[in-house]
Amino acid sequence: MATAVAPTAYKNYIGGEWVSPASGKGIENRNPANTDELVGIFPASTEEDVNLAVEAAKNAFDSWRLTPAPKRAEILYRAAEILVQRKEDIARDMTREMGKVLAETRGDVQEAIDMTYLMAGEGRRLFGQTTPSELPNKFAMSVRSPIGVCGLITPWNFPIAIPSWKMMPALVCGNTVVIKPAQDTPLSTYYLVQVLEEAGLPAGVANIVSGTGTLAGSPLVNHPDVKLISFTGSTDTGRIINEACAPAFKHVHLEMGGKNIIIVMDGANIDLAVDGAIWGGFGTSGQRCTAASRVAVHKKVYGEFTEKFVARAKKLRVGNGLDADTDMGPVVNEAQLQTVMKYVEIGKQEGAKLAAGGHRLDTGKYAKGWFFEPTVFIDCNPTMRICQEEIFGPVVSVMPIGSLDEAIEVANGVKYGLSSSIYTRNINDAFRAQRDLDTGIVYVNAPTIGAETHLPFGGTKQTGNGHRESGLAAIDFYSEWKTVYMDYSDRLQRAQIDNSE
Ligand code: NAD
Repeated sequence: MATAVAPTAYKNYIGGEWVSPASGKGIENRNPANTDELVGIFPASTEEDVNLAVEAAKNAFDSWRLTPAPKRAEILYRAAEILVQRKEDIARDMTREMGKVLAETRGDVQEAIDMTYLMAGEGRRLFGQTTPSELPNKFAMSVRSPIGVCGLITPWNFPIAIPSWKMMPALVCGNTVVIKPAQDTPLSTYYLVQVLEEAGLPAGVANIVSGTGTLAGSPLVNHPDVKLISFTGSTDTGRIINEACAPAFKHVHLEMGGKNIIIVMDGANIDLAVDGAIWGGFGTSGQRCTAASRVAVHKKVYGEFTEKFVARAKKLRVGNGLDADTDMGPVVNEAQLQTVMKYVEIGKQEGAKLAAGGHRLDTGKYAKGWFFEPTVFIDCNPTMRICQEEIFGPVVSVMPIGSLDEAIEVANGVKYGLSSSIYTRNINDAFRAQRDLDTGIVYVNAPTIGAETHLPFGGTKQTGNGHRESGLAAIDFYSEWKTVYMDYSDRLQRAQIDNSE
């Protein structure tokens, strides 16, 4: 597979064919580190294209669901092998389309590889239960059934990892899928679909329709033949999708915003905590749903931590993610940059102390991109908007706290509940924190980012709606339990009645 050196006009993949969108229109995909560079032109799809894709997925469903799961899994296994070979090419193009540094885009592809192998393994498990019946000569078991056509809607910050979190479990369970990738990063998702095609996935089993949320995402959510929606993105969009799914009782999985925290207790390894806060706060330019955008530091070590943290943030090298000496790339687009700039102004007005950064970078090598300085506010109050609202950029707010109880109250005092972390050497504090932090993910002595694919991933409160990605939790979402009773007694047996004498 060649990387997209020359701008290519990409097509949708529907029913095993690469087809142009009905609108005949395209959406430009530009490099956020250099907007002169056109990465590709992607279909501006509309309801017509979505309808074709859903029809193709519906038509493919019966033969795919009846394909033995280990055979389905063999295709995933081959796809994982191809992804391993293509890792570097895909990672480079991912940096070109969304900006994060090469080490991180390699990690993004690796996550897709891990997930694909993991779900290939599930093809020989997909375990249900067998259990004794309460009645004689009766057999009881539960099996997993596929659900049907799944509509998958993904964000731009993990352009191949998140699509793989949704596609691989959906496919191994016997569902067919239509994916609508984020408008900013369709190329990485195209590569994933292309790899599945090369691995031998039958026509119609996976389809990609690219375009905007309103014109392509919304018709997918509302299509009557789509039985399941899995969405990752902002809480505002998630709410719209949840409401749209309600009338038809669609299965719906929402992974949404976060306002994650690192707690640094007295007695913690401060240098380790600084390393974690830098990586958690500025990795992917702060545009991870699990980004550590808040740090709560015990007063006894507040001075030492903030001094070291601010000094390190100032030293981060901002630039094109493809350059080996870049620590932090641009933000994804102009709108995201405007949001970051708006929140920096809000922070200043709220009285937080700007200790590092705070400015757009737009001269010299930054002139053509969406660059912003790594920014640190200190002496923040937990009720400030910069400590409550998701900024999704390289801005970290540091707050002093006086005790673990206070830290947990601050941590839980936001509407989101994705990830949290505590740095401590006190075993009691560590255990209390993992019990009391109201987030779907808790780290001890590690930053808020770094999920592994074989464990559940997701959040509480307005981050999620109770489901999880990854691991066996994903298998639970993409399959429906069917309970089967086999009575071989040759007589009417009545549960709860005939066994009570
Ligand atoms: P977004 O909500 O703007 O868009 C996400 C996807 O939804 C895109 O593909 C978009 O085109 C589509 N969409 C938008 N409106 C739609 C509609 N009305 N109907 C159907 N689809 C629609 O989010 P984004 O800016 O792409 O991503 C950033 C957000 O994603 C942040 O809030 C971040 O926290 C969140 N996120 C969460 C997780 C998680 O696992 N919890 C992971 C990554 C990102």
